[in-house]
Amino acid sequence: MTPLLTDTTTAVVTGAARGIGAATAIRLAGDGMRVAVVDLDAADCAATVEAITAAGGHAAAFDADVADAEQVARVIERITEEIGAPTVLVNNAGITRDNLLFKMADEEWDAVVGVHLRGAFLMSRAVQKHIVEAGWGRIVNLSSTSALGNRGQANYAAAKAGLQGFTKTLAIELGRFGATVNAVAPGFTVTEMTAAAAVRAGVDFEEAIATMAAQIAVRRVGQPEDIANAISFLTSRGAGFVSGQVLYVAGGPVA
Ligand code: NAD
Repeated sequence: MTPLLTDTTTAVVTGAARGIGAATAIRLAGDGMRVAVVDLDAADCAATVEAITAAGGHAAAFDADVADAEQVARVIERITEEIGAPTVLVNNAGITRDNLLFKMADEEWDAVVGVHLRGAFLMSRAVQKHIVEAGWGRIVNLSSTSALGNRGQANYAAAKAGLQGFTKTLAIELGRFGATVNAVAPGFTVTEMTAAAAVRAGVDFEEAIATMAAQIAVRRVGQPEDIANAISFLTSRGAGFVSGQVLYVAGGPVA
């Protein structure tokens, strides 16, 4: 099938049904990109796609489990056929399975490392072919302030720190093909992920937000749009000399 549109960049945003991924998809569409809104279930991406198309942008929903090699290969093929070869990739899909080390199950470790690290690896490997062909590209990986250590998150912290090494290595490997690769490391951001964490900890979410805000230099917590704004810069044409960096988007300095 011939791509429906041929005049702009195609971006893939994983985990874009909600939260930071949805805000990023909407922001990149606002920047003029065609956006592949990828999540586990394409039906869950409807609201993101509708927000983009209602604003005059171009987006389509695709389902894939980013930790599954066959699904990743297939979804990148479909995206290429249906909206164009992707040269921008935001590896945002994520999960948490928090537990203290002595209680952490093998499955909790494998699931978190699988989605964040294996997922980013599989997606980046599939998209790099198109970046190399185009001689231009942008990859942004979602790290976290948890990469610096966070009680109860050995699996997640390891995956988010691992993504920083992954980012720097891809920056070195893909730079000669016109690509930049960076990581954005959000601090506490209001999404279903942090809301669920509050529920698990038996804390009222609004109270958790107030407690966190008091510890942050700008005296507020992050919103998905705050993270999307940083990703927008790193995926822009003008950010071509910024690569292999980890940008903490946390309302103040971290560690
Ligand atoms: P969220 O839970 O609201 O959304 C995550 C999305 O990823 C969901 O739509 C989910 O269905 C999707 N997803 C999960 N597993 C997937 C898979 N295997 N394949 C495809 N999609 C999958 O989370 P969020 O808060 O928006 O977080 C987005 C990213 O930002 C994650 O990587 C997260 O670790 C990171 N992050 C979040 C915060 C925060 O405070 N919210 C802080 C630092 C980093």
